[in-house]
Amino acid sequence: MSIKSIVIIGAGQAGANAILQLRALQYQGQVTLIGDEVHLPYERPPLSKDAILDPENTKLEILSAQKLQDLGVRHIAGQAVRLIDREAKQVVLANDERITYDKLLIATGGAARRLPALDALAQHVYTLRNLEDAQALIPVLQPGRRIVLVGGGVIGLELASSAQFRGCQVTVLEAGPRVMGRCAPQLLTDFMAQQHRQHGVNILLNTQMASCQLEGDIVKIELQNGQVLEADAVVYGIGIVANAQLATDAGLEVDAAIIVNEFAQTSDPDIYAAGDVAKQRLADGQMQRIESWENANRQAESFARHVMGADALTEQAPWFWTDQLGANFQFVGAMDAEQWYVRGEMESSGVLSNFILFGVSNGLITAAIAVNAAREMRHLKKMVNTAQAFELEKHLDCSLALKSMF
Ligand code: ADP
Repeated sequence: MSIKSIVIIGAGQAGANAILQLRALQYQGQVTLIGDEVHLPYERPPLSKDAILDPENTKLEILSAQKLQDLGVRHIAGQAVRLIDREAKQVVLANDERITYDKLLIATGGAARRLPALDALAQHVYTLRNLEDAQALIPVLQPGRRIVLVGGGVIGLELASSAQFRGCQVTVLEAGPRVMGRCAPQLLTDFMAQQHRQHGVNILLNTQMASCQLEGDIVKIELQNGQVLEADAVVYGIGIVANAQLATDAGLEVDAAIIVNEFAQTSDPDIYAAGDVAKQRLADGQMQRIESWENANRQAESFARHVMGADALTEQAPWFWTDQLGANFQFVGAMDAEQWYVRGEMESSGVLSNFILFGVSNGLITAAIAVNAAREMRHLKKMVNTAQAFELEKHLDCSLALKSMF
């Protein structure tokens, strides 16, 4: 079958990259990109950092209007898709326009998981998912303001870092026993909590809000231990909920997120899903959802390659990064390694240094973390992807370059 029309729902990272990949693979047919945001596709990683700290000099755009035109894309902005009509192979927009597809990509991302008790306050409570959210935080994060962040995940800590940089008094409430517990090993998460504390961020672990109320312009948060915190603003980041309703309504296989195979294909062979909204069934039957910039790009590329009949991507260990407290942390591989080893010093004279952590399972390097050592990632990715045997004396010897270890 020749493919004449591809429709992409969601103009974020995955949607934008799908277009680039399709055209790079010489797809000549129509592409329609539909996004409910009014913006051109933009990068989300800077939203918690540079988009708040230095908005004027932060470029977010992924595809300009000119580029979309050059790529022959019809971009429908500020319109939501209302439903997917699988029988007619059409998507129906909020304004009832119908657009026919031969292949459809759902790249609708996720929404902030809500905390109704905080939402009910209606004032001085924020979440961070999109550009407007970031812009709304700029006037809030002023010197001296008391900011409570609920959730000590990546978003919470990146915002803690930005807020303390702007001179706020920052408290992080984390329900679990450690920060960034979902995606980093304890050796690193303990270190990160300690670094934040050294920068004046008050990190409260195993701590949850019991109730909250507004008194004038102050949010009073009572903790489960009875302690009461006062805040000028509260920002919460407690994970996301996949925007999978369209897929559920269309009868696709959904389990909190849209189930896809290694080609990003859903239970309907003409419909694909990529990015935060997708959950991949692995060869061993396990499900994996990865919320990262790289995963959005890779699943979008898998979609484009499958549609165009190109070879599938080779499997690669997942990679993501975070920037906090002026330091860059990059992660590759599965973070549940049996043991972790430090190459270099995590701190020197009380200051965060540059170092590498090796995650080792069954004697093999299965993960690595580079802190302020981005240029080593190329080698670390190779070590993890080839599951190089770990040799303590060699790998931890800083006088030996990683690039010499192949
Ligand atoms: P995000 O991308 O929003 O940072 P993560 O899943 O990385 O999402 O982190 C969310 C963090 O929020 C986790 O560390 C989780 O333990 C924490 N969390 C979830 N619910 C609550 C809550 N009610 N109060 C405080 N922390 C919470």
